[in-house]
Amino acid sequence: MSAQILDGKGLSARLRARLRQRAEALAAQGRQPGLAVVLVGDSPASQLYVKNKIRACEESGIHSLQHCLPQETSETALLELIGQLNVDEAVHGILVQLPLPPHIDVRRVLAAIAVEKDVDGFHVHNVGHLTIGNPGLPPCTPAGVMALLEDAGIDLAGKHAVVIGASNIVGKPMALMLLAKGATVTICHAKTRNLTQHTIFADVVVAAAGCPKLVRKQMIQNGAVIVDVGINRLPDGTIAGDVDFDEVQQIAGWISPVPGGVGPMTVTMLMENTLRAAEQSMFCCSQGEK
Ligand code: NAD
Repeated sequence: MSAQILDGKGLSARLRARLRQRAEALAAQGRQPGLAVVLVGDSPASQLYVKNKIRACEESGIHSLQHCLPQETSETALLELIGQLNVDEAVHGILVQLPLPPHIDVRRVLAAIAVEKDVDGFHVHNVGHLTIGNPGLPPCTPAGVMALLEDAGIDLAGKHAVVIGASNIVGKPMALMLLAKGATVTICHAKTRNLTQHTIFADVVVAAAGCPKLVRKQMIQNGAVIVDVGINRLPDGTIAGDVDFDEVQQIAGWISPVPGGVGPMTVTMLMENTLRAAEQSMFCCSQGEK
């Protein structure tokens, strides 16, 4: 038996076509959605991520504004730019590409982004919304995983889900989203003893550890749903996920590939959040006019 594929690339193309219609509807009312992307420094990986996001904006009918700042940019200068973007009516979403240079306090920068423009969903206010189950702007990667699972018709209620990785941007919000859908959730991390003891009983495994091929065939049960968030560059330059795809797909029920799984969904959810922020600002304007 070979697993069914959670096809993030295909789903993303379908979702972006729908987002484009929503963006055009907004533009027809004089409010083209706009995303400001801020990049500090010249990391090739960050430049590639930003390029992908700009391309996704084009596909989704979102106007993108790029701000590329030199590596030595001061925290004060970055905060000033964010302050300007916060009040710019053409900007509905602000994305600061991470990681930032070490002399800049990332928490201070994320806290400076207006909550209603925080399309990465990293502001503590939006994290709080997620925690208590309010519809704020959710972080894009876990939101992309949930969209993949929903599109495949995978019901999470009563299922045992194991999240490998407990970062603020992937593992923790992922666990909260699975919990909100009724799953019983276990969070594993670098200090977890005997990972297999947890994954072997899981109906759903989300791997987000940043360890190439960490999840092996003998660690999962037949028919499990395996979502691979990992993006790891191997010494030979190729990209590998956190799951040994060739092996695991032989016994899993569903599996997401790398590339072509969660990666494109993350960018699509960023577009979704930008559209949502633009629609919300339009709604707020029309309420204000009454
Ligand atoms: P991170 O380094 O911030 O966190 C990794 C987490 O995994 C930590 O909680 C750590 O304790 C845990 N971990 C590390 N080794 C482990 C092990 N052997 N067993 C169990 N847990 C272990 O990383 P992150 O930002 O959460 O990203 C995780 C991975 O997901 C990376 O490969 C990253 O490139 C990828 N990623 C992909 C997307 C996407 O769009 N597909 C988005 C964000 C991150």
